[in-house]
Amino acid sequence: MKSSMTQATHGGMIIKHARFPVCRQAGMWQLRDNYKHMKTYDIAVIGTGPAGAMAAYTAAARGKKVLLIDKEQLPRYKTCGGGLVFRGRSRLPFALDGMVEKECREIEVYFEGSDHYFLTRREQPIISMVMRDSFDSLLVDKAREKGAELLQQCTLQGLQEEDEELLLQTSRGAFRTRYLIAADGALSPTAKLAGWEESRKLIPALEYEVEVNPADFERLSRRTRFDVDAVPYGYAWCFPKKNHLSIGVGCLKKQKINLKAYYEAYLEKLEIREIRSASAHGFQIPIAPRQSGFSRGRVFLAGDAAGFADPLTAEGISNALYSGELAAQALVASGESVGQAGETYQRLLEERLLPELKTSSLMAWVFYAQPQVRNWLLQKYGQRGCEILTDMFMGNQPFPDNLKQKLADRIPLLRFS
Ligand SMILES: Cc1cc2nc3c(=O)[nH]c(=O)nc-3n(C[C@H](O)[C@H](O)[C@H](O)COP(=O)(O)OP(=O)(O)OC[C@H]3O[C@@H](n4cnc5c(N)ncnc54)[C@H](O)[C@@H]3O)c2cc1C
Repeated sequence: MKSSMTQATHGGMIIKHARFPVCRQAGMWQLRDNYKHMKTYDIAVIGTGPAGAMAAYTAAARGKKVLLIDKEQLPRYKTCGGGLVFRGRSRLPFALDGMVEKECREIEVYFEGSDHYFLTRREQPIISMVMRDSFDSLLVDKAREKGAELLQQCTLQGLQEEDEELLLQTSRGAFRTRYLIAADGALSPTAKLAGWEESRKLIPALEYEVEVNPADFERLSRRTRFDVDAVPYGYAWCFPKKNHLSIGVGCLKKQKINLKAYYEAYLEKLEIREIRSASAHGFQIPIAPRQSGFSRGRVFLAGDAAGFADPLTAEGISNALYSGELAAQALVASGESVGQAGETYQRLLEERLLPELKTSSLMAWVFYAQPQVRNWLLQKYGQRGCEILTDMFMGNQPFPDNLKQKLADRIPLLRFS
């Protein structure tokens, strides 16, 4: 297919688009003459992960005409440990309908090369283990029940501002929409199309879905396990699912690293004797938010597209759900006022999500880059610190304000970079 890309600037927003008409292939592109016959939506959402599905659910539940687009056919596999932390689960406005593979109320944390070990328990499931194909499909079903339309195996190819609307060119035709939410994950081609430069911090993670023998499964599926420092500047995890384990390794720093070797060493550490099957999946996680804002004109970013995974844990589902909801809320609340929609989204993000990411980023720096300080803190605060962190990530306790000052007061030798 022939496509001719050009760039235009609209209110500071650079939009790449294909000139019309670009292709005579039937059904692929609507010609400009057909513009008025195109279907028009209040909000189009690209991506059916937690951010996109939750944005579509929230907007459709408030009476907006929503189009939800994904390049895949659902249900689709998504590379992810599938650990849904309680703070994410508790925000869902519906039950998970028996799709949770395992509810983990006990978590253990080991520290490589040290005696530190913590075990924490809660009444509520600290982490609910899901498989992302069924979890994401459930979210999309809920959005559709509220009226959102779903278009699968559809890729956004061009984006153009026309009067009061955006014109979306997709592999399945052209559509008009007042607003666009880009929830298309870590690679976010939509953010690129809308002119965002890369400013997130993308880190590598490798995850395996592993079937082991019944004895090993019984032993390793009683608790969720994390092993800090099993990877330099990172950790390994062992998540029990219904009939298998999700085992992975992640490095919280952008660096060249042979994660497979660390994964293999971790299997030995877990003393897994027999692997009956294993499928490997590697991908990136953006753990620092974009520095050039989260909206441009009529385009809004949510979830990984915005860089909202947590910098300490790389847990991204909770903030994907939360930011998808906030983006939709901002658009619904602001009606036709584009400027107000952007300001409202920024304000909503600043209420909690962005300060939490900032605090978490500082915690990550101490945790991974200052191991001596971290070990001193573990020695001093030990189990109490572990309980506080658990409550923070469960959403049962706010992230601390002004952590930098508090750390500086308690640890005079700590030098912030
Ligand atoms: C190895 C690994 C393990 C992880 N483990 C956990 C964990 O245990 N717990 C946790 O909370 N987080 C985990 N994460 C992070 C988590 O997976 C992400 O942060 C989360 O999925 C982000 O959700 P999202 O909705 O923003 O994007 P995604 O879930 O990535 O969804 C993006 C969607 O957009 C679609 N899409 C992409 N491009 C296009 C396009 N051009 N057109 C149309 N559609 C498109 C994709 O098909 C996909 O459906 C892990 C990540 C990795 C890599």
